[in-house]
Amino acid sequence: MTELTLVRRRSTLADPAEQTRMLAAAAHLPVFAESLARHGESPLTAQGIEVLQINVGKVCNQTCRHCHVDAGPDRRESMDRAVAEACLRLLRGGNIPTLDITGGAPEMNPHFRWLVAEARGLGKRVIDRCNLTILVTPAFEDLPEFLAEHSVEVVASLPCYLEENVDKQRGDHAFERSIRALRRLNELGYGLPDSPLSLSLVFNPVGPSLPPAQDRLEADYRRELRDRYGVEFTRLYTITNMPISRFLDDLLQSGKFDAYMQKLVGAFNPATVDSLMCRTTLSVDWQGNLSDCDFNQMLGLGLVPDQPRNIQGLREQDFANLFGRRIVTGRHCFGCTAGAGSSCQGSLS
Ligand code: SF4
Ligand code: SF4
Repeated sequence: MTELTLVRRRSTLADPAEQTRMLAAAAHLPVFAESLARHGESPLTAQGIEVLQINVGKVCNQTCRHCHVDAGPDRRESMDRAVAEACLRLLRGGNIPTLDITGGAPEMNPHFRWLVAEARGLGKRVIDRCNLTILVTPAFEDLPEFLAEHSVEVVASLPCYLEENVDKQRGDHAFERSIRALRRLNELGYGLPDSPLSLSLVFNPVGPSLPPAQDRLEADYRRELRDRYGVEFTRLYTITNMPISRFLDDLLQSGKFDAYMQKLVGAFNPATVDSLMCRTTLSVDWQGNLSDCDFNQMLGLGLVPDQPRNIQGLREQDFANLFGRRIVTGRHCFGCTAGAGSSCQGSLS
């Protein structure tokens, strides 16, 4: 058990296949591929791979309310060395410039530091998707120095600049611990003007609404975090809550599933389609299974059947096909195309 008060236990819809079936069975909602087709964008295909995003497991020191990974301290799923080595082989052989490491709390994977050092040794840009609180957790307190030494980009969740809202979503004391971690990162140069050490913050709405405009919210975050806490950061990403895992569970239990889905569908923005992250990303789960994105991975949706299933055993001749593969979509994809669009790198338009 962690020091944090756990907000929530596991999703009652933890079975990804059950979630996929539920979304597919919502026949009163439009089909995503048909919405794409109406705008001449179907089938959706990849345009190369710029980012290899690997989810190294579901182990986390938190249990946030809207976690799409359904992560927590009681989870045991964790990527082993053989799968991590296969990721590095693809990174090298596929000439993929960026390794994006997520979890869980990715730093809790026993191979995390080795993986970072190897990828940096290959000259790759490395992103650590960090929950901040792990940086002030005993046994991990030397992590900020490690990240700075290896010039790792930190992308950190901070769903609000107000303590009450953050603690509501992420657990008691999460905000105070996050501010402590941000100050530590600032001390090392992260997020300071003109510093090469990049510190991005991630906002997602507390409830079933779309995020506000990213640039306006970034200005609010900058002002409030600087004035209240003396904290600096590089940029803010706004991310839409996807109707999967714990957030889907929340929507169902509160009777807001239909209204939220209608909101996403009604806000479909064709201008976001060109920049959807699945078009330039390949996602790998802790066992090496391949997906078009982290969200598909959480729903147990692998690549289309003519593509490899797992990164282990991937051959060089598979690479070219992977780079132009057809992408698997579902109704959850409306979360990526609503309003200004959403991706792991924030809004799309
Ligand atoms: S910190 Fe991230 S991975 Fe961990 S429970 Fe919260 S949202 Fe999920
Ligand atoms: S959830 Fe988003 S990123 Fe994933 S396949 Fe659908 S549109 Fe692409």
